[in-house]
Amino acid sequence: MKNSDKYLKAIKENICSICVDSSEEGECILTEKEICAVEIYLPKIVELIHGSQTDNIFDLHLELRDKICSDCKTSKNKEHCHLRDDSNCALDRYFSIIVDTIQKVDLQVN
Ligand code: SF4
Ligand code: SF4
Repeated sequence: MKNSDKYLKAIKENICSICVDSSEEGECILTEKEICAVEIYLPKIVELIHGSQTDNIFDLHLELRDKICSDCKTSKNKEHCHLRDDSNCALDRYFSIIVDTIQKVDLQVN
């Protein structure tokens, strides 16, 4: 299994299973018109975690805003995102668990 597949599998097991936008079976219930930031930005999220000089979740969250939210179509700029303000972005909502999940996959891989 490729590393990218391992991250996706771990995300589905650890994040989708508890996400408010999933069914009891852990299947995503977003419509085709809705896009999950965790899925579309997963490579960038992994890159951010691997490239960061810190493990501090608050600093990593600031990096998330700088490196991903600033380019995200949903946001006017990195400080203002209506989805984040309504707790409707799974990436922002579960960021600390996402970081933890990716770090655990890295420990298994390396
Ligand atoms: S919104 Fe994202 S994190 Fe939530 S169940 Fe769907 S794919 Fe998983
Ligand atoms: S919080 Fe907003 S800007 Fe950041 S990834 Fe989610 S939808 Fe995009």
